[in-house]
Amino acid sequence: MIRTVIAGNWKMNKTVAESVAFATRLRAAYASPPAAEVIIAPPFTALHAVAAVIRGSFIGLSAQNLHEAQKGAFTGEISGGMLREAGCTCVIIGHSERRTHFGEGDARIGLKLQAALTAGLKPIFCIGESLRQREEGRTEALIEHQLKEGLKNLSADDIGRLMIAYEPVWAIGTGRTASPEMAEEVHRFIRGWVAQRCGPEPAAALPLLYGGSVTPDTIAGLLAQPNINGGLIGGASLDVDSFLRMIG
Ligand code: PEP
Repeated sequence: MIRTVIAGNWKMNKTVAESVAFATRLRAAYASPPAAEVIIAPPFTALHAVAAVIRGSFIGLSAQNLHEAQKGAFTGEISGGMLREAGCTCVIIGHSERRTHFGEGDARIGLKLQAALTAGLKPIFCIGESLRQREEGRTEALIEHQLKEGLKNLSADDIGRLMIAYEPVWAIGTGRTASPEMAEEVHRFIRGWVAQRCGPEPAAALPLLYGGSVTPDTIAGLLAQPNINGGLIGGASLDVDSFLRMIG
């Protein structure tokens, strides 16, 4: 059994004070840890302060991006080691907004996955098709391509240390969620691909998250699917009451 993961991607939202207030309320909402694994991904500026609030609690801390180098002349970038020092245990890699707005391709994403693992961070590796690719019937081919290229230089052991988030681009921030059946079909395909690449046991243990306009009203139907082990949630994770409803 894979423990359900509820991860909130705050994107470029919340000041340090707002992030701390959210984390304080989230921590205080549970006398004992919830059944789900809970992760929040605040903006870089708030990581250190949020880490202090959640230290020793059930809440995991994720960054939203990292640079693949350990250090150097990369103005405006941040390394895995720096994120670890700030208190992160996870990092989102390959989010469609990074791919679309910042030109991150599969090869670069592969380097970032390696850098995250080297730094001791658990990557949340995002993949997903555009509306056009889905309409042209190319969803599985695209997913396979992103898996193959992104994971090219990773060992089976490395792949076993990831979480993979299936996020159809057409569903991110649009209010259009994939139906549970539609999402399940792709999740099943991803697990099958990982089983072929790494063997059935690591594939069966790999957390596969769905992302794309998940809300408190739609999450139960998605999590009821056998291959959907959690959610990577943007908009609906910004309000603490909404986030608490999704954790359950
Ligand atoms: C995301 O940021 O990964 C995401 C899925 O956003 P939203 O839930 O707002 O669609």
